[in-house]
Amino acid sequence: MARYTASSCRVCRREGSKLFLKGQRCYTDKCGFDKRSYAPGQHGKGQRVKHSNYGLQLREKQKVKKTYGVLERQFRKYFKTASRSKGVTGSKLLELLERRLDNVVFRSLFASSRPGARQMVMHGHVLVNNRKVDIPSYSVKTGDILVIRQKEKTVKRVKDSMEKLKDHGFPGWIEVDKEGLKTKITRLPERSDIAADIKEQLIVELYSK
Ligand code: SF4
Repeated sequence: MARYTASSCRVCRREGSKLFLKGQRCYTDKCGFDKRSYAPGQHGKGQRVKHSNYGLQLREKQKVKKTYGVLERQFRKYFKTASRSKGVTGSKLLELLERRLDNVVFRSLFASSRPGARQMVMHGHVLVNNRKVDIPSYSVKTGDILVIRQKEKTVKRVKDSMEKLKDHGFPGWIEVDKEGLKTKITRLPERSDIAADIKEQLIVELYSK
């Protein structure tokens, strides 16, 4: 399965924003972006880039793709589905991304980053409605119940992650049982549940050309 292989911290620096791709490290003073918040490369520091409109739209799209770990083809599919749905296309796009199984594992704090959550899903550590689902892009529905498989090593890793991130809250559309390592989808996510600094309208403008 294709995935991004560039250094996570370089990706954050390129996009000019913390994308939280490295788990607990992102919350410490070891964060690469906090140390060097300029673009990577020889000309990154002191570089004054004035993006064109197109440049801004492109960067915003890249930021969202990389935040959710989605490649171009799949991202376009999400956009197509969003544009065919009722409602505001940009919000629908983010809501669809938010429903990805790997994102729900991350939002439940069972993993400290989306790449970590994606790996857990792919390695078969997550059950949805009592069945193993190893597809990170699986789209959750209201009423779905996710459970982390009770394997000693996995449970320990998940509990460690939850302990370290215990000050982080859960979004309002999921209910997390911290002891049972179980998450219930109580409703579908809405744009207002997604606090990320994303200007989705720029992505809509880019794809509408
Ligand atoms: Fe991004 Fe995390 Fe690296 Fe910071 S530590 S630059 S948030 S991946």
